[in-house]
Parts: sequence; structure tokens; C-alpha cells
Amino acid sequence: MPRLDRTVKKRTEATIQDEIRAAVAKMPDVTLYRNAVGKMNVAGKWFTYGLGPGSADLVGWITVHPTVTLRIARFLALEVKDPAQPLSRHAAHVADQEAWLAHVRSCGGVAGIVTSVEEAVSLIQEAREWRV
Ligand SMILES: [Mg+2]
Repeated sequence: MPRLDRTVKKRTEATIQDEIRAAVAKMPDVTLYRNAVGKMNVAGKWFTYGLGPGSADLVGWITVHPTVTLRIARFLALEVKDPAQPLSRHAAHVADQEAWLAHVRSCGGVAGIVTSVEEAVSLIQEAREWRV
């Protein structure tokens, strides 16, 4: 029986998020925050936290230079998914997330579902290359 290699970290949505945040930490033109969304009961009263239902896991901005003199903070939203988890498991929740991302895009931001650092970097690069 093969031995379990405990040095290999199990990949989860949280570890993928950590990898993306580590990659973004090396990008001086990108600022991203963790947006935990939910509600909790404190002493019998419910409190909600985060940017609201469907809002992305990582939100922030990238500083873009669409012209020589113009500098703009373009909104970024990354919904992180574990590629091993079927999307249908939380279908209603995923529909809220897709609607939120679509709203960000319709407002001129850059938003998408990513399942790896490579996909996140690709989306950020797309935002970085924006020109008017
Ligand atoms: Mg997520």
C-alpha cells in the first residue's frame, strides 16, 4: 500500500484562493481583498457580513493606464472555484454569483470564475491590457 504523502497539500477552494492572493501580492498594480459572505447569529440576533449574496470571493481593483496621462482603478472580481467540485452542488448560490459577476462586467469591471492561479492571472492580464 502506498504511503500517504502528508507534504502534499490537499487542493481546496481555500488553497487556490491563497495561491491567487500570493501571486497578486507580487503585482503592485493589483489590490485584492477577501470577501467572505454569510450571516452569523450573535446573542440571538442575525448579522450579515460581506458584500452581499453572490458577491465574489476576491474583490479589488487594478490600476490601468488607458492613455498616457490617465490612471484608472478598474474593478476586479474573482469568484474562486475548486475544479473538483461540481457547480451544480450549490446551483442557486452559483446562479447568484454568476449574476453578480455579470453585473460587474456590465458596469465595466473585470469579473469571472477562476479555478487556478493561471486563470486568475489571465483575467488580471486581460484587465491590465485595457485601452480606450
Ligand atoms: Mg468561491
